[in-house]
Amino acid sequence: MIFSPKYLIRLDDASHYLDNNKWNIIEKILIKYNVKPIVAVTPNNMDKNIQYSAYNEKFWEKVHKWQKLNWTIAMHGYSHVYHNCQRFKLKFPFYNRSEFGGLSLKEQIEKIKKANDIFISNGIKPKLWVAPSHTFDLKTLKALEQVTDIRVISDGIAYSSFFENGFNYIPQQLWDFKNKFFGTWTICLHPDTITKNELRNLELFLKYKSRKNQIIGFNNINLNKRRLNFFDKIYSTQFWIKYNFKYTIKSFLKF
Ligand SMILES: [Zn+2]
Repeated sequence: MIFSPKYLIRLDDASHYLDNNKWNIIEKILIKYNVKPIVAVTPNNMDKNIQYSAYNEKFWEKVHKWQKLNWTIAMHGYSHVYHNCQRFKLKFPFYNRSEFGGLSLKEQIEKIKKANDIFISNGIKPKLWVAPSHTFDLKTLKALEQVTDIRVISDGIAYSSFFENGFNYIPQQLWDFKNKFFGTWTICLHPDTITKNELRNLELFLKYKSRKNQIIGFNNINLNKRRLNFFDKIYSTQFWIKYNFKYTIKSFLKF
């Protein structure tokens, strides 16, 4: 079925400070269409930019509820607080900021161990890595290997899942609802800041695509040793040319 695209939904920035109302609305929509998303959880959110409510003592109960629904829990960093770094030294050059990229292996191991310990002490075993702002480097992967069982990354620009540096990657290429003709696409959503219009589009998209069996979950992904091929490389090169062009224009406009 080469011409049947598949879509995965990823929800970012779940933490003790999430916007309950908005997450509840999305939860209802996903349950209605039997969608099993990836939820990226920040276990010790210290980033004021992603604090949308008072500290919720019962946050981990929510995570358990998602796990019971067969949703997939991912580790979304430790504190989500960034330092400056050079984006071209990162695995995916999205931004000049990262919680991990550019730090020593020892520092990264410490952070990831602390994050993992919080998950484990709350009875949750994260299955994937979702780097805050997509920014990490090869030392982050080494750290994950040393202190966690996580061997799958949700990130990257390709047509479907691939294997690199000892890890399986499920690419994440979309931030809104687009029609594709083939391939595996992860759509990243930020429930805390989602608009009414985006919610409407989410529901329309799920209604249409689930009828065609095109919405999948983490468990439906075939994690094999596929290497990036010629077409993935063309797509990725095109993506980064466009991205870097927009990035340069944006930075230019800031001055
Ligand atoms: Zn984030």
